[in-house]
Amino acid sequence: MSPRVDTLIRRVVRMASRLARPMAGPSAVVLMYHRVAQPMVDPWNLSVAPDLFDRQIAMLAKRYRLVPLDELPERLHRDRGGPPLVAVTFDDGYRDNLVVARPILEKHGCPATLFVTTGFIGWETPFWWDELAERVLCARRLPDRIALATVPGMTVQTDGHDRVDVLFAIWACLRKLSSPQRDAAMAELREALPGPMPADPNALPMGVDEIAAFAGPLFDIAAHTVTHPALTDLSLEAQTREIAESRIALERILDRPVSSFAYPYGDFDDGSVKAALDAGMKLACTTEPSSFGHRHPLLRVPRLQVKSIPPQELGLRIDSLIQLATPR
Ligand SMILES: [Zn+2]
Repeated sequence: MSPRVDTLIRRVVRMASRLARPMAGPSAVVLMYHRVAQPMVDPWNLSVAPDLFDRQIAMLAKRYRLVPLDELPERLHRDRGGPPLVAVTFDDGYRDNLVVARPILEKHGCPATLFVTTGFIGWETPFWWDELAERVLCARRLPDRIALATVPGMTVQTDGHDRVDVLFAIWACLRKLSSPQRDAAMAELREALPGPMPADPNALPMGVDEIAAFAGPLFDIAAHTVTHPALTDLSLEAQTREIAESRIALERILDRPVSSFAYPYGDFDDGSVKAALDAGMKLACTTEPSSFGHRHPLLRVPRLQVKSIPPQELGLRIDSLIQLATPR
């Protein structure tokens, strides 16, 4: 085969593969953070240390177009060129988001949306999952088995088991409880696993004034239910109530409409999507780690959890999600 024919064939193959590939359209990546801190234990990888967070945001500001979450759908329609769009979000409403993360975000001009679990606002105790993790992972010794009268049927053997496995087993049971049941279970657990709780005020949920102080031109507040339940365990009516009541509580604090939401634990089904819609939400985030295209359903916006990884690696993960984008 002559070199000219060979080149021609290569060109035809390239063109055919380009035509066969449907146009993916523009896509964005939504990032999910929780804490900007260095806690003693972090079994779910929810924390990024402040200096690393600073470098991650600096990289994002340099390589991508950082946009507020609620502007993403419109920007995806309007913007057809330039670097990919990225939106930053935080879940739960930790105080370090205001004290540590906000100044760093502001320094880099990075917008962010904060999903707040309204039932925990102003609590002087840590989020229950953090307290549970510290009590199980930091206890000098554990009883051979942990059983709680307030959680019938739960018996977790600890002898010979990895502490993280013990933690996850208890967490899986407590996560299914109603809020009052879980409070009772945690009170019992404090007796079973006593120990001085390290007092890190930045690990506590924000108060009303702090949520109001977080909001600003670059920063939006959005709903994350009242009690942080696994929504798929609830009736449609209860799901709608959890979402709507958190929206109403935030609207009272902020004196403006709230229409974005994140599913706790990323746990949702078709009923949860309907509940979000019925509760007045226009956009809802999951924890499915993929990119967000302009045809993606607005009540199923995927998000990538950011862990303690170097900025370069975070950039590669974002780029690979953008490249994997397929038409929806
Ligand atoms: Zn959450």
